[in-house]
Amino acid sequence: MKTVLPDSRKFPRFAGVSTFCRYPLLELVAAKSLPVDWVIYGVPFDGGVTYRPGARFGPRAVRDASQYVKRYSIEHDVDVCEVLSMADAGDAPVSPYDCKENAERVAAFATGLGDAGHTKLLAVGGDHSIAYANIKATWQRRGKPAAGLACVHFDSHLDTVDSVWGEKWGHASPFIRAIEEGLIDPKRMISIGIKGPLNSKADLDYAKDHGVRIVTHAQWQDDGPAQLAAFVAEVGAAEAYLTFDIDCVDPAYAPGTGTLCPGGFTSAEVLGILRSLRGMNVVGADVVEVLPDRDPAGITAFLAAHVVFEVLCLDAVRRKG
Ligand code: MN
Ligand code: MN
Repeated sequence: MKTVLPDSRKFPRFAGVSTFCRYPLLELVAAKSLPVDWVIYGVPFDGGVTYRPGARFGPRAVRDASQYVKRYSIEHDVDVCEVLSMADAGDAPVSPYDCKENAERVAAFATGLGDAGHTKLLAVGGDHSIAYANIKATWQRRGKPAAGLACVHFDSHLDTVDSVWGEKWGHASPFIRAIEEGLIDPKRMISIGIKGPLNSKADLDYAKDHGVRIVTHAQWQDDGPAQLAAFVAEVGAAEAYLTFDIDCVDPAYAPGTGTLCPGGFTSAEVLGILRSLRGMNVVGADVVEVLPDRDPAGITAFLAAHVVFEVLCLDAVRRKG
């Protein structure tokens, strides 16, 4: 067993101190000098939002919701705890008033987690601006690949706006910054679930001009699965980053988010799409934009916790072969 969990038949899931999916704290695993395949950490930052704030409470809510995430995937026939060593690294230090300083702090924290050459990073936000920091840390730890990482992006929004209110590091801009710095290869990036209305047609220009493949929600219903399958085949075993903004899901299923957009994926659809990425070499990920104050039944945080699980499953099933 790579990850030892409390036995839920003896220690109920509703008891004890919450860690992501009940995985052990990183410091406890590190004290035993055990290798860690994935660290999961929270980034309680929402200083980059353009509309409703509150995602700073996301990590705490997702941790709590994740107590009921189990370990064996029926669909993939894999027990993630048998295949992967996973740990909760706690929350990154944040700089609540300053997006750029926050990005630098979080990236520095993430860069130091576990074994840089081995341990993969999964960040739970927080608003989407925090993706830049986790992408940067992942890119550095993978040896700064000159071509940049491939990227699968789930969102209602492209997040390639140059600046909002003079801020270049907010949640509308993580991918323009990551592409500018060569952390992500836009020609091997796909944005899934994009929908409008937009502020203007020109909002599509940066992504289109740089070769990002855009699959709008409407297109998904047409030939989206085939487009994604072709992308997965083309990327092959190349190192890929997965970024998941929960607002790609319909507000009927994920109301707890800050810039919601009606007419999105159902929970079942999005979990199925994640499973269809089987075979990809996911080397880093984030799950962002959960806003617990707008999530009265906790279903958004609960879905986010299961998205974390599905991402881990992709690596587990790949290693299992
Ligand atoms: Mn986003
Ligand atoms: Mn979004």
